[in-house]
Amino acid sequence: MIDPSIFELNFDQYRKLIADFTENELIPSENEMVRDGAVPERLVERMAQLGLFGISIPQSYGGLEWNMEQQVLLTQEFTRASCVYRSRFSTVIGLCSQAILDHGTEEQRTELLPKMAAGELVTAFGLTEEDAGSDASQLTTSAVLENGNYVVNGAKRYITNAGWADAFIIFARTDASVHGAKGVSALLVDATLPGVSTSLPTRMNGHAEAPVGEIHLANVVVPSSRLLGGPQGEGQGLTMALRGINHARLHVAATCVGQATRILEEITAHVNTRKQFNAPLADLGAVKSVLGECFAEVEAARALVMEGARAFDMGDVPRHRIAAAKLFASEMVGRVADKCLQLLGGEGIVGDHPIPRMWRDVRALRIYEGSSPIHERNLAVAMIRQGKIDGRLPNSYRV
Ligand SMILES: Cc1cc2nc3c(=O)[nH]c(=O)nc-3n(C[C@H](O)[C@H](O)[C@H](O)COP(=O)(O)OP(=O)(O)OC[C@H]3O[C@@H](n4cnc5c(N)ncnc54)[C@H](O)[C@@H]3O)c2cc1C
Repeated sequence: MIDPSIFELNFDQYRKLIADFTENELIPSENEMVRDGAVPERLVERMAQLGLFGISIPQSYGGLEWNMEQQVLLTQEFTRASCVYRSRFSTVIGLCSQAILDHGTEEQRTELLPKMAAGELVTAFGLTEEDAGSDASQLTTSAVLENGNYVVNGAKRYITNAGWADAFIIFARTDASVHGAKGVSALLVDATLPGVSTSLPTRMNGHAEAPVGEIHLANVVVPSSRLLGGPQGEGQGLTMALRGINHARLHVAATCVGQATRILEEITAHVNTRKQFNAPLADLGAVKSVLGECFAEVEAARALVMEGARAFDMGDVPRHRIAAAKLFASEMVGRVADKCLQLLGGEGIVGDHPIPRMWRDVRALRIYEGSSPIHERNLAVAMIRQGKIDGRLPNSYRV
Protein backbone atom coordinates (compact mmCIF):
# COMPACT_ATOMS: atom_id res chain seq x y z
CA MET A 1 0.00 0.00 0.00
CA ILE A 2 1.26 3.50 -0.81
CA ASP A 3 2.02 5.50 2.33
CA PRO A 4 -0.79 8.14 2.39
CA SER A 5 1.76 10.91 3.15
CA ILE A 6 3.29 10.33 -0.33
CA PHE A 7 0.19 11.85 -1.92
CA GLU A 8 0.90 15.15 -0.11
CA LEU A 9 4.31 15.61 -1.79
CA ASN A 10 4.94 17.82 -4.78
CA PHE A 11 7.09 16.40 -7.56
CA ASP A 12 10.39 17.90 -6.37
CA GLN A 13 9.82 16.51 -2.88
CA TYR A 14 8.92 13.09 -4.27
CA ARG A 15 11.96 13.04 -6.57
CA LYS A 16 14.20 13.83 -3.60
CA LEU A 17 12.58 11.02 -1.62
CA ILE A 18 13.31 8.56 -4.45
CA ALA A 19 16.88 9.89 -4.83
CA ASP A 20 17.43 9.32 -1.09
CA PHE A 21 15.87 5.84 -1.27
CA THR A 22 18.24 5.02 -4.13
CA GLU A 23 21.31 6.36 -2.35
CA ASN A 24 20.56 5.06 1.14
CA GLU A 25 18.71 1.80 0.55
CA LEU A 26 18.96 0.48 -3.04
CA ILE A 27 22.65 1.05 -3.78
CA PRO A 28 23.88 -0.22 -0.37
CA SER A 29 21.81 -3.42 -0.83
CA GLU A 30 23.17 -4.34 -4.26
CA ASN A 31 25.74 -6.82 -2.93
CA GLU A 32 23.11 -8.46 -0.71
CA MET A 33 20.84 -8.78 -3.75
CA VAL A 34 23.62 -10.39 -5.79
CA ARG A 35 24.53 -12.73 -2.92
CA ASP A 36 20.91 -13.86 -2.40
CA GLY A 37 20.03 -13.91 -6.11
CA ALA A 38 16.84 -11.87 -5.71
CA VAL A 39 15.62 -8.38 -4.86
CA PRO A 40 15.21 -8.39 -1.03
CA GLU A 41 11.53 -8.57 -0.09
CA ARG A 42 11.88 -5.65 2.36
CA LEU A 43 12.91 -3.45 -0.57
CA VAL A 44 9.94 -4.60 -2.66
CA GLU A 45 7.72 -3.57 0.27
CA ARG A 46 9.49 -0.19 0.46
CA MET A 47 8.99 0.28 -3.32
CA ALA A 48 5.26 -0.31 -2.80
CA GLN A 49 5.08 2.06 0.20
CA LEU A 50 6.89 4.76 -1.77
CA GLY A 51 4.47 4.40 -4.67
CA LEU A 52 6.97 3.16 -7.27
CA PHE A 53 4.41 0.66 -8.63
CA GLY A 54 2.02 3.56 -9.19
CA ILE A 55 4.07 6.39 -10.72
CA SER A 56 2.33 6.18 -14.10
CA ILE A 57 -1.20 5.35 -12.89
CA PRO A 58 -3.78 8.18 -12.55
CA GLN A 59 -4.76 9.31 -9.05
CA SER A 60 -8.36 8.38 -9.83
CA TYR A 61 -7.13 4.76 -9.93
CA GLY A 62 -4.96 5.08 -6.82
CA GLY A 63 -1.64 6.01 -8.46
CA LEU A 64 0.63 9.04 -8.24
CA GLU A 65 -0.08 10.21 -11.80
CA TRP A 66 3.30 11.73 -12.63
CA ASN A 67 3.52 12.77 -16.27
CA MET A 68 6.03 11.18 -18.67
CA GLU A 69 8.65 13.87 -18.11
CA GLN A 70 8.40 13.27 -14.38
CA GLN A 71 8.42 9.47 -14.87
CA VAL A 72 11.69 9.58 -16.81
CA LEU A 73 13.26 11.93 -14.25
CA LEU A 74 12.31 9.45 -11.52
CA THR A 75 13.60 6.54 -13.60
CA GLN A 76 16.94 8.30 -14.02
CA GLU A 77 17.11 8.55 -10.20
CA PHE A 78 16.23 4.98 -9.22
CA THR A 79 18.28 3.42 -12.03
CA ARG A 80 21.46 4.88 -10.58
CA ALA A 81 21.04 1.69 -8.57
CA SER A 82 21.06 -1.72 -10.25
CA CYS A 83 18.52 -1.82 -13.09
CA VAL A 84 17.40 -5.16 -11.67
CA TYR A 85 15.46 -3.28 -8.95
CA ARG A 86 13.49 -1.45 -11.62
CA SER A 87 12.51 -4.65 -13.36
CA ARG A 88 10.61 -5.68 -10.20
CA PHE A 89 7.97 -3.00 -10.89
CA SER A 90 8.65 -2.05 -14.53
CA THR A 91 6.09 -4.46 -16.01
CA VAL A 92 3.41 -2.81 -13.86
CA ILE A 93 4.23 0.85 -14.54
CA GLY A 94 4.93 0.56 -18.26
CA LEU A 95 3.79 -2.45 -20.20
CA CYS A 96 0.70 -3.62 -18.32
CA SER A 97 -0.90 -0.62 -16.61
CA GLN A 98 -0.76 1.53 -19.73
CA ALA A 99 -2.37 -1.12 -21.93
CA ILE A 100 -5.14 -1.55 -19.33
CA LEU A 101 -5.53 2.21 -18.88
CA ASP A 102 -5.93 2.96 -22.57
CA HIS A 103 -7.68 -0.19 -23.75
CA GLY A 104 -9.34 -1.88 -20.75
CA THR A 105 -13.04 -1.52 -19.95
CA GLU A 106 -13.92 0.81 -17.07
CA GLU A 107 -14.71 -2.27 -14.97
CA GLN A 108 -11.25 -3.74 -15.69
CA ARG A 109 -9.53 -0.42 -14.92
CA THR A 110 -11.41 0.03 -11.64
CA GLU A 111 -10.75 -3.51 -10.52
CA LEU A 112 -7.08 -3.82 -11.48
CA LEU A 113 -5.30 -0.46 -11.54
CA PRO A 114 -5.68 0.49 -7.83
CA LYS A 115 -4.21 -2.87 -6.77
CA MET A 116 -1.41 -2.52 -9.32
CA ALA A 117 -0.60 1.02 -8.14
CA ALA A 118 -0.41 -0.20 -4.55
CA GLY A 119 2.00 -3.01 -5.48
CA GLU A 120 -0.59 -5.59 -4.41
CA LEU A 121 -1.13 -6.98 -7.91
CA VAL A 122 2.11 -7.57 -9.80
CA THR A 123 1.45 -8.10 -13.49
CA ALA A 124 3.69 -9.48 -16.22
CA PHE A 125 3.44 -9.03 -19.96
CA GLY A 126 3.28 -12.29 -21.90
CA LEU A 127 4.00 -11.61 -25.55
CA THR A 128 7.23 -13.36 -26.60
CA GLU A 129 7.20 -17.03 -27.63
CA GLU A 130 9.80 -19.46 -28.94
CA ASP A 131 8.88 -18.74 -32.58
CA ALA A 132 7.58 -15.20 -32.07
CA GLY A 133 10.27 -12.80 -30.83
CA SER A 134 11.05 -9.76 -32.98
CA ASP A 135 8.04 -10.74 -35.09
CA ALA A 136 5.37 -11.03 -32.40
CA SER A 137 2.63 -11.31 -35.03
CA GLN A 138 3.61 -14.97 -35.49
CA LEU A 139 2.56 -16.01 -31.99
CA THR A 140 0.68 -19.28 -31.71
CA THR A 141 -0.71 -19.32 -28.17
CA SER A 142 -4.39 -19.93 -28.73
CA ALA A 143 -7.54 -18.81 -26.90
CA VAL A 144 -10.63 -20.64 -28.09
CA LEU A 145 -14.09 -19.46 -26.99
CA GLU A 146 -16.10 -22.31 -25.46
CA ASN A 147 -19.31 -21.79 -23.42
CA GLY A 148 -18.48 -18.20 -22.47
CA ASN A 149 -14.86 -18.93 -21.50
CA TYR A 150 -11.59 -18.82 -23.38
CA VAL A 151 -9.53 -22.01 -23.24
CA VAL A 152 -5.91 -20.93 -23.50
CA ASN A 153 -3.01 -23.13 -24.62
CA GLY A 154 0.59 -22.18 -25.36
CA ALA A 155 3.87 -21.05 -23.84
CA LYS A 156 5.61 -17.71 -23.36
CA ARG A 157 9.31 -17.17 -22.75
CA TYR A 158 11.68 -14.45 -21.54
CA ILE A 159 8.90 -12.91 -19.45
CA THR A 160 10.00 -10.35 -16.84
CA ASN A 161 8.43 -11.10 -13.44
CA ALA A 162 6.95 -14.41 -14.68
CA GLY A 163 7.98 -15.96 -11.38
CA TRP A 164 6.61 -13.13 -9.21
CA ALA A 165 3.47 -12.00 -10.99
CA ASP A 166 -0.04 -12.41 -9.61
CA ALA A 167 -1.54 -12.03 -13.09
CA PHE A 168 -0.44 -11.88 -16.71
CA ILE A 169 -1.56 -10.10 -19.82
CA ILE A 170 -1.38 -13.00 -22.26
CA PHE A 171 -1.41 -12.25 -25.97
CA ALA A 172 -3.15 -15.10 -27.73
CA ARG A 173 -4.69 -15.90 -31.08
CA THR A 174 -8.48 -15.75 -30.64
CA ASP A 175 -9.14 -16.17 -34.34
CA ALA A 176 -7.16 -19.06 -35.80
CA SER A 177 -8.40 -18.25 -39.29
CA VAL A 178 -6.61 -14.88 -39.28
CA HIS A 179 -2.83 -14.96 -39.67
CA GLY A 180 -0.56 -12.20 -38.46
CA ALA A 181 -1.39 -9.40 -36.05
CA LYS A 182 -5.13 -9.13 -36.59
CA GLY A 183 -6.14 -12.45 -35.00
CA VAL A 184 -4.42 -11.64 -31.67
CA SER A 185 -6.22 -10.50 -28.51
CA ALA A 186 -5.07 -9.71 -24.95
CA LEU A 187 -6.38 -11.70 -22.00
CA LEU A 188 -5.97 -10.99 -18.30
CA VAL A 189 -4.94 -14.32 -16.81
CA ASP A 190 -4.76 -14.96 -13.07
CA ALA A 191 -1.50 -16.75 -12.19
CA THR A 192 -3.35 -19.10 -9.82
CA LEU A 193 -5.73 -20.52 -12.43
CA PRO A 194 -5.49 -24.30 -12.96
CA GLY A 195 -3.20 -25.05 -15.91
CA VAL A 196 -0.95 -22.00 -15.39
CA SER A 197 2.64 -22.71 -14.38
CA THR A 198 5.92 -20.83 -14.59
CA SER A 199 9.56 -21.84 -14.72
CA LEU A 200 12.82 -19.94 -14.40
CA PRO A 201 15.92 -20.29 -16.59
CA THR A 202 18.89 -22.23 -15.28
CA ARG A 203 21.24 -19.35 -16.03
CA MET A 204 21.11 -15.62 -16.85
CA ASN A 205 23.84 -13.56 -18.51
CA GLY A 206 23.22 -10.33 -16.64
CA HIS A 207 19.96 -9.40 -14.82
CA ALA A 208 20.60 -12.58 -12.86
CA GLU A 209 18.61 -11.45 -9.82
CA ALA A 210 15.53 -10.84 -11.98
CA PRO A 211 15.44 -13.97 -14.12
CA VAL A 212 13.05 -13.85 -17.04
CA GLY A 213 10.80 -16.88 -16.91
CA GLU A 214 8.51 -19.03 -18.98
CA ILE A 215 4.74 -19.16 -18.64
CA HIS A 216 3.05 -22.43 -19.55
CA LEU A 217 -0.67 -22.45 -20.29
CA ALA A 218 -2.37 -25.83 -20.54
CA ASN A 219 -6.15 -25.75 -21.08
CA VAL A 220 -6.48 -22.67 -18.87
CA VAL A 221 -10.13 -21.62 -18.59
CA VAL A 222 -10.34 -17.82 -18.61
CA PRO A 223 -13.74 -16.08 -18.31
CA SER A 224 -14.54 -14.06 -21.45
CA SER A 225 -14.93 -10.99 -19.19
CA ARG A 226 -11.09 -11.10 -18.95
CA LEU A 227 -10.71 -10.15 -22.62
CA LEU A 228 -8.92 -6.78 -22.40
CA GLY A 229 -11.26 -4.10 -23.71
CA GLY A 230 -14.30 -6.40 -23.70
CA PRO A 231 -15.77 -7.76 -26.95
CA GLN A 232 -14.41 -4.71 -28.88
CA GLY A 233 -10.91 -5.75 -27.81
CA GLU A 234 -11.08 -8.90 -29.92
CA GLY A 235 -8.28 -8.85 -32.51
CA GLN A 236 -6.77 -5.65 -31.01
CA GLY A 237 -4.13 -7.39 -28.90
CA LEU A 238 -1.01 -6.17 -30.68
CA THR A 239 -2.29 -2.56 -30.81
CA MET A 240 -2.76 -2.77 -27.05
CA ALA A 241 0.69 -4.32 -26.66
CA LEU A 242 2.29 -1.46 -28.57
CA ARG A 243 0.67 1.10 -26.25
CA GLY A 244 2.43 -0.49 -23.28
CA ILE A 245 5.64 -1.08 -25.23
CA ASN A 246 5.97 2.55 -26.38
CA HIS A 247 5.55 3.74 -22.81
CA ALA A 248 8.08 1.20 -21.55
CA ARG A 249 10.61 2.02 -24.30
CA LEU A 250 10.99 5.56 -23.02
CA HIS A 251 11.42 4.21 -19.49
CA VAL A 252 14.11 1.85 -20.81
CA ALA A 253 15.89 4.77 -22.51
CA ALA A 254 15.78 6.65 -19.19
CA THR A 255 17.13 3.53 -17.48
CA CYS A 256 20.15 3.62 -19.82
CA VAL A 257 20.79 7.23 -18.76
CA GLY A 258 20.49 6.35 -15.05
CA GLN A 259 22.85 3.40 -15.40
CA ALA A 260 25.39 5.39 -17.43
CA THR A 261 25.30 8.22 -14.86
CA ARG A 262 26.16 5.80 -12.06
CA ILE A 263 28.90 4.17 -14.14
CA LEU A 264 30.49 7.58 -14.76
CA GLU A 265 30.28 8.52 -11.07
CA GLU A 266 31.92 5.21 -10.12
CA ILE A 267 34.69 5.47 -12.72
CA THR A 268 35.47 9.09 -11.85
CA ALA A 269 35.98 8.05 -8.22
CA HIS A 270 38.22 5.20 -9.39
CA VAL A 271 40.49 7.21 -11.71
CA ASN A 272 40.86 9.93 -9.07
CA THR A 273 42.27 7.45 -6.55
CA ARG A 274 43.96 4.69 -8.54
CA LYS A 275 47.64 5.58 -9.11
CA GLN A 276 49.94 4.22 -11.82
CA PHE A 277 53.15 5.80 -13.15
CA ASN A 278 53.25 7.84 -9.89
CA ALA A 279 50.03 9.70 -10.61
CA PRO A 280 46.26 9.16 -10.50
CA LEU A 281 44.85 7.64 -13.70
CA ALA A 282 42.77 10.82 -13.97
CA ASP A 283 45.93 12.73 -14.91
CA LEU A 284 46.35 10.75 -18.13
CA GLY A 285 45.12 12.47 -21.28
CA ALA A 286 43.78 9.19 -22.67
CA VAL A 287 41.63 8.76 -19.55
CA LYS A 288 40.33 12.33 -19.69
CA SER A 289 39.38 11.75 -23.31
CA VAL A 290 37.27 8.71 -22.37
CA LEU A 291 35.59 10.55 -19.49
CA GLY A 292 34.72 13.60 -21.57
CA GLU A 293 33.41 11.59 -24.48
CA CYS A 294 31.28 9.40 -22.21
CA PHE A 295 29.85 12.44 -20.40
CA ALA A 296 28.79 13.99 -23.70
CA GLU A 297 27.21 10.70 -24.79
CA VAL A 298 25.15 10.46 -21.59
CA GLU A 299 23.99 14.05 -21.90
CA ALA A 300 22.97 13.50 -25.53
CA ALA A 301 20.86 10.50 -24.49
CA ARG A 302 19.39 12.44 -21.55
CA ALA A 303 18.30 15.23 -23.89
CA LEU A 304 16.80 12.77 -26.36
CA VAL A 305 14.83 11.01 -23.61
CA MET A 306 13.57 14.31 -22.22
CA GLU A 307 12.52 15.53 -25.65
CA GLY A 308 10.63 12.28 -26.27
CA ALA A 309 8.94 12.57 -22.86
CA ARG A 310 7.86 16.16 -23.50
CA ALA A 311 6.45 15.22 -26.89
CA PHE A 312 4.61 12.34 -25.20
CA ASP A 313 3.11 14.75 -22.65
CA MET A 314 1.84 16.95 -25.50
CA GLY A 315 -0.75 14.21 -26.06
CA ASP A 316 0.64 12.10 -28.90
CA VAL A 317 2.75 8.96 -28.69
CA PRO A 318 5.80 10.06 -30.74
CA ARG A 319 6.77 6.48 -31.45
CA HIS A 320 9.59 7.22 -33.87
CA ARG A 321 11.28 9.62 -31.46
CA ILE A 322 10.76 7.10 -28.68
CA ALA A 323 12.34 4.37 -30.83
CA ALA A 324 15.27 6.67 -31.65
CA ALA A 325 15.77 7.51 -27.97
CA LYS A 326 15.66 3.83 -26.99
CA LEU A 327 18.05 2.86 -29.79
CA PHE A 328 20.57 5.62 -29.05
CA ALA A 329 20.43 5.38 -25.25
CA SER A 330 20.80 1.60 -25.13
CA GLU A 331 23.75 1.64 -27.53
CA MET A 332 25.22 4.58 -25.58
CA VAL A 333 25.15 2.78 -22.24
CA GLY A 334 26.81 -0.24 -23.84
CA ARG A 335 29.68 1.92 -25.12
CA VAL A 336 30.02 3.80 -21.81
CA ALA A 337 29.98 0.62 -19.73
CA ASP A 338 32.59 -1.01 -21.93
CA LYS A 339 34.97 1.96 -21.95
CA CYS A 340 34.66 2.45 -18.20
CA LEU A 341 35.18 -1.23 -17.49
CA GLN A 342 38.43 -0.94 -19.43
CA LEU A 343 39.57 1.84 -17.08
CA LEU A 344 39.19 -0.56 -14.15
CA GLY A 345 41.81 -2.91 -15.56
CA GLY A 346 41.74 -6.27 -13.75
CA GLU A 347 39.11 -4.95 -11.34
CA GLY A 348 36.79 -4.97 -14.33
CA ILE A 349 36.98 -8.74 -14.39
CA VAL A 350 37.93 -9.79 -10.86
CA GLY A 351 36.05 -8.85 -7.69
CA ASP A 352 32.74 -7.17 -7.00
CA HIS A 353 33.10 -3.67 -8.40
CA PRO A 354 29.63 -2.50 -9.57
CA ILE A 355 30.73 -1.54 -13.11
CA PRO A 356 31.29 -5.09 -14.42
CA ARG A 357 27.91 -6.11 -12.97
CA MET A 358 26.26 -3.16 -14.71
CA TRP A 359 28.20 -3.93 -17.92
CA ARG A 360 26.52 -7.34 -17.94
CA ASP A 361 23.10 -6.02 -16.92
CA VAL A 362 22.88 -3.25 -19.53
CA ARG A 363 23.57 -5.66 -22.38
CA ALA A 364 19.94 -6.79 -22.25
CA LEU A 365 18.73 -3.22 -22.83
CA ARG A 366 19.79 -3.52 -26.48
CA ILE A 367 17.65 -6.63 -26.87
CA TYR A 368 14.31 -6.14 -25.10
CA GLU A 369 11.66 -3.53 -25.96
CA GLY A 370 12.79 -3.96 -29.58
CA SER A 371 16.37 -4.91 -30.38
CA SER A 372 18.64 -2.25 -31.90
CA PRO A 373 18.50 -3.70 -35.45
CA ILE A 374 14.71 -3.78 -35.29
CA HIS A 375 14.60 -0.09 -34.32
CA GLU A 376 17.05 0.79 -37.09
CA ARG A 377 14.93 -1.10 -39.59
CA ASN A 378 11.61 0.36 -38.38
CA LEU A 379 12.96 3.91 -38.36
CA ALA A 380 14.29 3.52 -41.89
CA VAL A 381 10.98 2.07 -43.12
CA ALA A 382 9.07 4.99 -41.54
CA MET A 383 11.51 7.54 -43.07
CA ILE A 384 11.21 6.05 -46.53
CA ARG A 385 7.41 5.88 -46.30
CA GLN A 386 7.05 9.45 -44.97
CA GLY A 387 9.54 10.71 -47.55
CA LYS A 388 7.32 9.37 -50.31
CA ILE A 389 4.28 11.11 -48.79
CA ASP A 390 5.57 14.63 -48.12
CA GLY A 391 9.38 14.59 -48.14
CA ARG A 392 9.50 15.07 -44.35
CA LEU A 393 10.79 12.87 -41.55
CA PRO A 394 8.52 10.81 -39.24
CA ASN A 395 7.41 12.82 -36.14
CA SER A 396 8.76 15.83 -38.02
CA TYR A 397 9.80 18.99 -36.14
CA ARG A 398 9.18 21.13 -39.22
CA VAL A 399 6.35 23.64 -38.91
C1 LIG B 1 15.89 -9.44 -19.97
C2 LIG B 1 14.75 -9.63 -20.93
C3 LIG B 1 13.46 -9.30 -20.52
C4 LIG B 1 12.37 -9.51 -21.37
N1 LIG B 1 11.10 -9.27 -20.92
C5 LIG B 1 10.03 -9.56 -21.71
C6 LIG B 1 8.69 -9.44 -21.22
O1 LIG B 1 8.46 -9.00 -20.07
N2 LIG B 1 7.67 -9.80 -22.02
C7 LIG B 1 7.86 -10.28 -23.29
O2 LIG B 1 6.88 -10.58 -23.96
N3 LIG B 1 9.13 -10.41 -23.79
C8 LIG B 1 10.20 -10.08 -23.03
N4 LIG B 1 11.49 -10.24 -23.51
C9 LIG B 1 11.69 -10.76 -24.86
C10 LIG B 1 12.22 -9.73 -25.84
O3 LIG B 1 11.22 -8.81 -26.18
C11 LIG B 1 12.77 -10.51 -27.06
O4 LIG B 1 13.95 -11.17 -26.62
C12 LIG B 1 13.04 -9.62 -28.25
O5 LIG B 1 11.84 -9.14 -28.81
C13 LIG B 1 13.82 -10.34 -29.35
O6 LIG B 1 13.20 -11.54 -29.68
P1 LIG B 1 14.08 -12.90 -29.71
O7 LIG B 1 14.82 -12.97 -28.43
O8 LIG B 1 13.19 -14.01 -30.07
O9 LIG B 1 15.15 -12.63 -30.85
P2 LIG B 1 14.94 -12.84 -32.45
O10 LIG B 1 13.62 -12.32 -32.86
O11 LIG B 1 15.31 -14.24 -32.78
O12 LIG B 1 16.04 -11.85 -33.01
C14 LIG B 1 17.42 -12.11 -32.79
C15 LIG B 1 18.22 -11.00 -33.42
O13 LIG B 1 18.05 -11.04 -34.84
C16 LIG B 1 18.08 -9.74 -35.36
N5 LIG B 1 16.82 -9.48 -36.11
C17 LIG B 1 15.63 -10.11 -35.97
N6 LIG B 1 14.73 -9.63 -36.85
C18 LIG B 1 15.36 -8.65 -37.54
C19 LIG B 1 14.97 -7.75 -38.60
N7 LIG B 1 13.74 -7.75 -39.12
N8 LIG B 1 15.89 -6.86 -39.05
C20 LIG B 1 17.14 -6.82 -38.55
N9 LIG B 1 17.56 -7.66 -37.56
C21 LIG B 1 16.70 -8.55 -37.06
C22 LIG B 1 18.28 -8.79 -34.19
O14 LIG B 1 19.64 -8.51 -34.01
C23 LIG B 1 17.79 -9.59 -33.00
O15 LIG B 1 18.40 -9.17 -31.80
C24 LIG B 1 12.59 -10.02 -22.68
C25 LIG B 1 13.90 -10.33 -23.09
C26 LIG B 1 14.95 -10.15 -22.24
C27 LIG B 1 16.34 -10.52 -22.69
